Amino acid sequence: MIIYVDYDGTLVNFIQPWLDHINQEENTKLTTQNYKEDKYKEVSKKYFKIFNNEKYYEKVSNFENYRDFLTNLKTINKDIKLKILTSNISYKQEDGKQKHIEGNELEELIEEVIHLTKGKTKQKKYEISNNGHLIDDDIRHILEHCKNNEGFGILINLNNQFIYPEEKLNELKGLKNFKYMTSYNEIISFMAKQQPKEEKTKTNKIEK
Ligand SMILES: [Mg+2]
Repeated sequence: MIIYVDYDGTLVNFIQPWLDHINQEENTKLTTQNYKEDKYKEVSKKYFKIFNNEKYYEKVSNFENYRDFLTNLKTINKDIKLKILTSNISYKQEDGKQKHIEGNELEELIEEVIHLTKGKTKQKKYEISNNGHLIDDDIRHILEHCKNNEGFGILINLNNQFIYPEEKLNELKGLKNFKYMTSYNEIISFMAKQQPKEEKTKTNKIEK
């Protein structure tokens, strides 16, 4: 079983250094809860370029317990393979992020890091995640994964950080492989209940 795990917003607090920068420059009080509001659209667009810098990740911090999360996810059973699947707007961003990932010493937990970088690949996340489950904080990726693939698409909204348009969430609610979760523990308990196929045929003979 492959579990694809997004990086920004799922394992690390990608947005915070950007918000700190805007707040300092513009004397605003943008938070992870309110930066998507219409009145902040222009100002947040103005600072979009700072993501396109390999130094950006030097300021990015990991979410609390992210490592325990990956460790627990991996040890649910021996067949689980974890892969980081992450999009980048440029090579510069990819470089900075790759260094950040290496700094976190995730080699023993992560099988592979897959960068989908603008200019390098046109592949979409759901095309990669078609042989597994996807854990991501971006509703668009989860929506595409759930519509096109069989594996679970788990939308993670840690600390209720991100605001999504209601209609998008409604679109997802009808899909049976869609799950919405707000903590790492919730994901661990859910995935622990999903047994690998071999065991399923042994233990649940009645099930088709
Ligand atoms: Mg993300």
